[in-house]
Amino acid sequence: MRGAFYTGEKLLEIRETPTPEPGPGQILIKVDIACVCGTDLHIVAGEYFSRPPVIIGHEFAGVVAGLGEGATAAKVGDLVTVEPHQYCRVCKFCKTGREHLCLDKRGYGTYYNGGFAEYAAVAENTVYPAPAGIGAREAALAEVLGCCIRGVDRSGMRIGDTVAVLGCSSVGMIFTKLARRAGAARIIVSEPNGERRRAALGYGADLAVDPGLLKETLDRETGGLGPDVVIECSGVPAAAGQAVALAGRGARVVLFGVAPPGETVSIEPNGIFMKELAIVGSTINPFTHYRAVEMLPSLGLGDLITHVFPLARINEAMEAARRGAGLKIAIEPNG
Ligand SMILES: [Zn+2]
Ligand SMILES: [Zn+2]
Repeated sequence: MRGAFYTGEKLLEIRETPTPEPGPGQILIKVDIACVCGTDLHIVAGEYFSRPPVIIGHEFAGVVAGLGEGATAAKVGDLVTVEPHQYCRVCKFCKTGREHLCLDKRGYGTYYNGGFAEYAAVAENTVYPAPAGIGAREAALAEVLGCCIRGVDRSGMRIGDTVAVLGCSSVGMIFTKLARRAGAARIIVSEPNGERRRAALGYGADLAVDPGLLKETLDRETGGLGPDVVIECSGVPAAAGQAVALAGRGARVVLFGVAPPGETVSIEPNGIFMKELAIVGSTINPFTHYRAVEMLPSLGLGDLITHVFPLARINEAMEAARRGAGLKIAIEPNG
């Protein structure tokens, strides 16, 4: 089979490699679709953990093509999604119900071969059959949806809240949809790209404005009180500073976007005290993939994948994601 390997260089390399044999408890998946994630861009930039040479891609769905000894989580022919993490089960965090903070987390697409390949063999505990009526494109979004569900959980969002979403790529769109479902009274999105602003309105935002207009828009819409929840999705350090600065009294600020390691931003501690802000991180998807799969039929994320490339053009796909083309960029390894 062919797979897109990260080798430590800035470009991925398509290599012929043996089709994996599913070992005991593993399931072999013929990959229909695998989405490009911001994390993949960080991996090839050398800014995120990986173990090259490794096939990257951790947001994928496909059809079960083989079962290793004893694997029962799905049947041959089932369309499945993958929650791409394996945890050590022996560290402090695994033993205290916080496996996503595991000291020896090993992911498909970072440590083990992932989804930018014709086939992937994964442990059956990571495999989730797609609900009836859901196609591979939506199924492949379960992973990122699960991460966003974690972000909403971390936000403590309540019915009637005013929610500001900073940065509206695919993740911002998902947060907008989830905030609407969670009962937000008002969802105000900030995003520099006009096309994405227009799309955000279709995903349930009440207003979508340029970042430069966000503060005055929030002031106007909330009578100067500011938002109850701010979700920073862009990963731009300055936006994290803006998120803290414009949060309302008692607000929760979720820093969801992955900023480059080592970059810093200044915040005003007195504002955090005076407004009693809670500033929280949100890391991957602990126990949320199941809930994500459950939400797929009613959430309607079918339009989120705007560009699909064949595996041979993976570097073009990565470049499209890097320059912010469309919403979600995906690969069809067998297309
Ligand atoms: Zn991802
Ligand atoms: Zn662990």
